[in-house]
Amino acid sequence: MGKPKIGIYGLTGCAGDQLNIINCEDELLKLFDIFEIKSFVMASSAKDEEIELDVAFVEGSVSTEKDLEHLQEIRKKSKILVAIGHCAVYGGVQSMFMGNEEWMERYKRVYGKESAVTLTPPLEPKPLAAYVKVDAVLPGCPIEKEPFLKLAGKLAHGVVPRVPDYPVCAECKWKENECLLLKGEICLGPLTNSGCGAICPSMNIGCIGCWGPIAKENMKSEAMLLMEKGFDMDEVAKRFAIFGGVERAEALKSLVSSSTKESGK
Ligand code: SF4
Ligand code: SF4
Repeated sequence: MGKPKIGIYGLTGCAGDQLNIINCEDELLKLFDIFEIKSFVMASSAKDEEIELDVAFVEGSVSTEKDLEHLQEIRKKSKILVAIGHCAVYGGVQSMFMGNEEWMERYKRVYGKESAVTLTPPLEPKPLAAYVKVDAVLPGCPIEKEPFLKLAGKLAHGVVPRVPDYPVCAECKWKENECLLLKGEICLGPLTNSGCGAICPSMNIGCIGCWGPIAKENMKSEAMLLMEKGFDMDEVAKRFAIFGGVERAEALKSLVSSSTKESGK
């Protein structure tokens, strides 16, 4: 069996995920040894777009018609499609208001006329899974080197990895960190997918949720906990909205206010 053929692509985003792949300096030669890289425009102008791929890594959200076309072409020729980075997995900060019909009004407020600054018509920013089947994900803003290498290693052995279904707090406990919530600081670890190794709380910085909201979150219990700790819910909701979306941040806030009413506080 030959080496797996891979392509690394970017849609609308900051290209930070592709950059972090290039930043795997010590392991880069090994990656080239294991995989046959057919397209990686950030690293090389040599590319072969005609060939079928075993794995395509795609970063960025679908934010234009051109993005959508590109994504559909990639999907057609790839056996496994991996969304890398928050934009590809959840839509990124640009999709904070996803589902809100007023997105074009906001777009015009920023850019003036709808067609003034783009070469391709804009679309409401959405994650890849809104349009095509996604086989695996690696969240993060941007992705981290170590989780990427682990993911690449599994794919090289034909294993399609899944994101763990426990929150950042679990990794934080394994590192024996003192909980920031107990120190009176806002940390979104309980609401966020693990996988980053609790990098921020390990440096005494509250998690802002860049690995995205955990699927099995217990919003009600989190709301109660934050309320008990006396956090400013507007501030918590603002932070949660950055990577979790405005709608879910509002839901968290309203859970707190209904719990407050129930308990008569
Ligand atoms: S510091 Fe944050 S991530 Fe760590 S245990 Fe506390 S809430 Fe969870
Ligand atoms: S601790 Fe939170 S904000 Fe920091 S990298 Fe991990 S998920 Fe992202």
